[in-house]
Amino acid sequence: MKIIMLGAPGAGKGTQAKQIADKFQIPHISTGDIFRANIKEGTELGTKAKAFMDKGELVPDELTVQLVVDRIAKDDCKRGFVLDGFPRSIPQAEVLDETLAKMGEKMDYAIDVDVPDENIVNRMGGRRACVNCGATYHIVNVPTKVEGICDKCGSETILRDDDKPETVQKRLSVYHTQTQPLIEYYKKQGILKSVDGTLPMADVFKAIERILGA
Ligand code: AMP
Repeated sequence: MKIIMLGAPGAGKGTQAKQIADKFQIPHISTGDIFRANIKEGTELGTKAKAFMDKGELVPDELTVQLVVDRIAKDDCKRGFVLDGFPRSIPQAEVLDETLAKMGEKMDYAIDVDVPDENIVNRMGGRRACVNCGATYHIVNVPTKVEGICDKCGSETILRDDDKPETVQKRLSVYHTQTQPLIEYYKKQGILKSVDGTLPMADVFKAIERILGA
């Protein structure tokens, strides 16, 4: 099963993607997580990506596309995968389609987690991420057991630079101009499904399970 998660930054697509990956035992491929891991390790890719991420802009395709092309060619992706944060533009979607076509494959579902902009801005301000393991929380919806401390590894949780209000506005405008056209792109392919991302997380997941026939 090959699934793309679509949705504005902060719509909750990452959380849903992780649950899909767990349930169907397929890899969860998040370009944002790959970049953040590179930033943490201090790689050249990380340094280059950070400059764009901190401004709320997309990381250029020459740094992004090959990462995904290489990743989906790996053996553990044979049974499928869930893409979270890729593609983020029509050109990226076209490369993905071409890559899969060469392998005799195609995407099965593009699931749009739909949340209005005003909810997004509120949500992102409450988001916290662990400085060490990257686990994400929300001060109201998914709080840590101890305030400011990651449940998983005990490190500090912080508001990520790219979740700061001014950056969120920029990310939303980038989403509307570059990423939202993918909704029409996948509708034309007949694989677009939409879920109401304002529902509680468990209900969003139930809606996704129904779509995937689980
Ligand atoms: P995310 O965690 O998916 O919200 O991604 C965080 C940031 O990483 C984004 O705001 C972009 O700067 C960058 N990024 C992630 N995925 C992509 C992509 N497919 N294309 C370009 N930039 C990306």
